[in-house]
Amino acid sequence: MRINENYWKLQDSYLFSTIAKKVKAFLAEHPDQKIIRLGIGDVTLPLPAAVVSAMHEAVDEMGKKESFHGYGPEQGYSFLKTAIQGYYARLPVKLEEEEIFVSDGAKSDLGNILDLFDRHNTVLVPDPVYPVYVDTNVMAGRNIVYMNANELNGFLPMPDGQVQADIIYLCSPNNPTGAVYHKTQLKAWVDYARRQGAVILFDAAYEAFISDESLPRSIFEIDGARECAVEFCSFSKTAGFTGTRCGYTVVPKELTYGGTKLNSMWLRRQTTKFNGVPYIVQKGASAVFSEEGQRQVKANIDYYKENARIIADALKKQGIWYTGGENSPYLWLKCPEGKSSWEYFDYLLTQAGIVGTPGAGFGKNGEGFFRLTAFGDRENTKEAVQRLASLR
Ligand code: PLP
Repeated sequence: MRINENYWKLQDSYLFSTIAKKVKAFLAEHPDQKIIRLGIGDVTLPLPAAVVSAMHEAVDEMGKKESFHGYGPEQGYSFLKTAIQGYYARLPVKLEEEEIFVSDGAKSDLGNILDLFDRHNTVLVPDPVYPVYVDTNVMAGRNIVYMNANELNGFLPMPDGQVQADIIYLCSPNNPTGAVYHKTQLKAWVDYARRQGAVILFDAAYEAFISDESLPRSIFEIDGARECAVEFCSFSKTAGFTGTRCGYTVVPKELTYGGTKLNSMWLRRQTTKFNGVPYIVQKGASAVFSEEGQRQVKANIDYYKENARIIADALKKQGIWYTGGENSPYLWLKCPEGKSSWEYFDYLLTQAGIVGTPGAGFGKNGEGFFRLTAFGDRENTKEAVQRLASLR
């Protein structure tokens, strides 16, 4: 018996444990200091009322013989998939119901999709990046090539003729940088992927934060994307489902590699290895698309976006360079006075009691940068920017 030794190649994730250790040590010395966390990637607002009431109804249905649900379709109930179809139709993007696969979230699908691909494929990943793309490929022993996301390209790397990639990860709006691709940029990626015969894994977990109508919310708004892209979506940040768990993945029927449809492979994979999302949760998720649900979701997103605006204003006033925060819950700032990411972390913690996330934790290009998030509550966000202002 041999284990998968690729696990030895994983880099230990020190980022959040180091943050926790530093905060603990600081609080041990300053027990009265109130810490404000602007580093978290989790939501703080509760589930929208429409979702809660749909889930209550579903619980009652489960308690009666005539409306009880046992094993469901692994790829999701039709009522949720048709609601998702309707959501895409407004872009306008036309999806077939069988192209939509409901799951327990984007992270699982981003990892699980790799079951469909050969171990010898080359993977192209932006740096800095959401660490899941890297670690899931390291576990499978794939070769990873990094593309630089930096100030010069607005943290939006574009295709480079030098690299022969088979699997390309794009995340827009981006975690951690908050950068969002324009349609022309995504079109260049789609054309490149089609020339290469590559697949784009497009992470749209933050699409709901886009308010600029000219920016694409789905890669399928781009001509040719149905021939080269899979899209991953999530209710986590859109509707507060981080603890409830629901997302979906779109695999177009045109996607064919080696004569095989990825859609059929993914269906086979999911029906074999995945049990589906609970009926109660899918009922809650479908309420997100009701008129009332959409209104409530928008109100929550507007709340976070107002937090982002408050933080952005404070950064502007202090002359700190930043990007993101407009069509994204993330603000990505350049550490002032040439500080490293961790130096700035220590500085904010000790001088202002603010906890953010050092950019260096997301890749080498993140060094010298820092991520703040808009997911906190309003009072804390306001207090944090007052503390920031008093630093100078
Ligand atoms: N993709 C990105 C870019 C994320 O930042 C996150 C969560 O932080 C996810 C996916 C995971 O989403 P889910 O909660 O649906 O698994």
